[in-house]
Amino acid sequence: MNDVINTNYTFYRGRVALYSILKVLGVKKHDHVALQAFTCLAVPEAIMAAGAIPQYIDIDDNLCMSPEDLKKKITGKTKAIIIQHTYGIPADMDDLLEIALQKNIPVIEDCCHTYLSMYKQKRVGSFGIAGFYSFEWGKPIVAGIGGGLNINSNDLESEIQTLYKKFDRPGFINQIRMEIQYAVFKFLYRPKFYWPLKRLFHLLSSFGIAEGNYNPIDTIDEKADKDFLLRMGHQQKNRMIKKLKNLTKTSEHSKRISNEYSSKIKSDKVSHLKFSLNKETVFVRYPLIAKNKNKLLDEAQKANIELAEWYTTPIHPLKDEELRKVHYISTSCPNAEKYAQRIVTLPTHGSVGNRDVSRIINFFNN
Ligand SMILES: *Cc1c(COP(=O)(O)O)cnc(C)c1O
Repeated sequence: MNDVINTNYTFYRGRVALYSILKVLGVKKHDHVALQAFTCLAVPEAIMAAGAIPQYIDIDDNLCMSPEDLKKKITGKTKAIIIQHTYGIPADMDDLLEIALQKNIPVIEDCCHTYLSMYKQKRVGSFGIAGFYSFEWGKPIVAGIGGGLNINSNDLESEIQTLYKKFDRPGFINQIRMEIQYAVFKFLYRPKFYWPLKRLFHLLSSFGIAEGNYNPIDTIDEKADKDFLLRMGHQQKNRMIKKLKNLTKTSEHSKRISNEYSSKIKSDKVSHLKFSLNKETVFVRYPLIAKNKNKLLDEAQKANIELAEWYTTPIHPLKDEELRKVHYISTSCPNAEKYAQRIVTLPTHGSVGNRDVSRIINFFNN
């Protein structure tokens, strides 16, 4: 099944797909673009590469944008709203879209965490003028590095087509590096190798051998001249198309695993999110609220249990002073800050087998 991604336009990364949409919407210098806090640097990076200023909206207890806070914060300068379906949990689309419609501001959906989650029987990504997707390491479908779009407006599509003509393929060396990285990922990434692989990845990207997840924030403008004019590599694209054919199966697997976690993990170390877990959510990872996040992560590492920490700050992985450089004002999104200190996530990806699930459940329940 693939009527989700428009394979005519594929990008170097998810953030490049987002950047392209912002560009064709005419977003320019000094404009504001609303996005939720409790996200990753890739999103404000795209906004800033387009010259605009990220405007952070707090989250609700579903970890997605709060309509109430959006209403409070949007102004005449807000030129687009990016709605993220965090971990695959659909955002509160009815209320958010109503606000956007009232002010006549276009909505872009950040679907990097999910393809097939449904909100009131309609697939996420089909509400806004466009949805964007990512195919890198932590995402539901891993193609190496890459990004895609789902465009819901014919006008917008013809403008994307024009812009896309100017885009190049990644260079040869870059392609090779991405292929090596993918091979390592494919052969080594199992829940059991999560911690050692994570250390290796950080080490290699600090030496510039592996392509890291984030660019240095001081050079977003320079990077914009390079990364933000690239298409997805050939190999990555072929792999994406192939894997998208199994999307339904991949999503069913993820649903089954998260149902296990949700019904069987009963521990005073963690609590489940309170929003009614609707069966139509396809999680990229299953979130839990930890009583003591750092302690739990330490224990998980010792027990060799795949437990991820993202997002660790309102704009992962930035801290303190760095947050200001992407225009985040400390304490402006208290809920995002609170959840960044508490959320941990469990894997639902294809290499999680029944034995992994039992180990994970035992880790919590014993
Ligand atoms: C991964 C991700 C992105 C962007 O992904 P890249 O392909 O790395 O640019 C954007 N938003 C969210 C929520 C993501 O998780």
